[in-house]
Amino acid sequence: MGYGIRIRRTNRRKFRINKRRAGLFLVAVIGILIGAAAAIGGTVHYIENKPTKLRANVDVIADIPVITDFVSAKTMERPGEQRKIKYIVIHETGNAGKNANAASHNNYLHTKANSQQKSWHYTVDDREIYYHIPDNEIAFHAGDGLSQDGGNRNGIGIEMCINPESDYEQTLENTAKLAAMLLKAYDLSIDSLKKHEDFSGKHCPDHLLSEGRWDEFVTMVKDEMNAE
Ligand SMILES: [Zn+2]
Repeated sequence: MGYGIRIRRTNRRKFRINKRRAGLFLVAVIGILIGAAAAIGGTVHYIENKPTKLRANVDVIADIPVITDFVSAKTMERPGEQRKIKYIVIHETGNAGKNANAASHNNYLHTKANSQQKSWHYTVDDREIYYHIPDNEIAFHAGDGLSQDGGNRNGIGIEMCINPESDYEQTLENTAKLAAMLLKAYDLSIDSLKKHEDFSGKHCPDHLLSEGRWDEFVTMVKDEMNAE
């Protein structure tokens, strides 16, 4: 009799242990499934947002010289974070001072390199283009911080000069050529051509918008893309 009771007790204990083991096993399986799902999700997210590979550097676009003079890496202006390129973002410098051309804006960026989070990729005037930060790195021109789908995180910022001795119409043409080249180089459609205003509401590019010429500019870029 006593023997029989011991067996029953043993069985009960075994059953309790098994139940606990089964519970632990279930928790482990659920954990593994969640981990796997997260890993797959993370990979998909990584693939979708994989940094764009830098296109081959150019020295000349049409007959416009392009001067590459990168701002030092690991500075406030150029943290060096690579990203996927989704937009070309058009700006005007807002600087109507004499000699506020592309070269002087390049100097400005190099002088200010580690003092402000304000930067862009290209400056265009009527004679030349300066290339300051690699296309596939984040810069700070769109006024929208580092928002996920924003202009800073995903855009190549182009500043057009408005200095009085520079021919604005020629600057527009040069900018259209640059924007068309970049859109094609990164397999982007004309819909990826944006203005600063699209991201932060700032009235920029100021002259172009004030004169109601944005659509005309988009057509210029489209024509350049279709040329050749
Ligand atoms: Zn702007």
